[in-house]
Amino acid sequence: MYASEQAWREVDAYFVDTLVPEDEALVHARQSGGATTMPQAEVAANQGKLLALLCGMSGARRVLEFGTLAGYSTIWLARAVGRDGHVTTLELEPQNAAVAADNLRRAGVAERVDIRTGPALKSAEQLVEAGTEPYDFVFIDADKPSNPAYLKASLALTRPGSVIVIDNVVRNGAVTDPDSDDDRVRGVRTVLADIAADDRLEATALQTVGAKGWDGFTVVRRVR
Ligand code: SAM
Repeated sequence: MYASEQAWREVDAYFVDTLVPEDEALVHARQSGGATTMPQAEVAANQGKLLALLCGMSGARRVLEFGTLAGYSTIWLARAVGRDGHVTTLELEPQNAAVAADNLRRAGVAERVDIRTGPALKSAEQLVEAGTEPYDFVFIDADKPSNPAYLKASLALTRPGSVIVIDNVVRNGAVTDPDSDDDRVRGVRTVLADIAADDRLEATALQTVGAKGWDGFTVVRRVR
């Protein structure tokens, strides 16, 4: 028996009400998604809190994010790394970066976040060329066809022990179709195959239902 999407939403609302209070800055960041190029594409509150918990559990102080949007997930990550931590977040659209910058100021974390505007792959390459200190935690949540390239860039910017989380790997179940002509599905399938073939990485993937529909994420640990 399948519960309805309405039930998924009600359970998410219950969990968020019970365990994941959002302050004014987070509420504003979520709502300001309407002023971006991809309204409502931010993670759900309980997913943002999960990212923060994973950062905390892994002791992450330096975070790299692909896909900023309005900075909703960025706020969760920036708060998780603490006052001495740092988040670099990569965003294609200047409009979204401007909305995010305002939200990060509101949340009191602007000084620990570097928003780099432009194609994320190019920004990541610049970070590699600059010999940037390795990141402890990476959140990949930008254009899905580029996931394999973002994983490769992440491996050039992390160290053994770093954690990589990739969002939206289920896509309403479409991920199981090996013949999909959807570039986003192909991006997910290729990155999962790349992870599986890389003996530096151990990983799992989980599917989720809730306020964001039926989707899921991959959690990767770099062991070498
Ligand atoms: N992580 C955000 C959150 O949860 O609050 C949501 C990110 S949204 C799903 C994806 C973002 O990736 C959008 O803001 C989009 O403009 C950005 N994006 C798309 N293609 C990109 C690219 N090539 N380089 C950098 N950012 C890109």
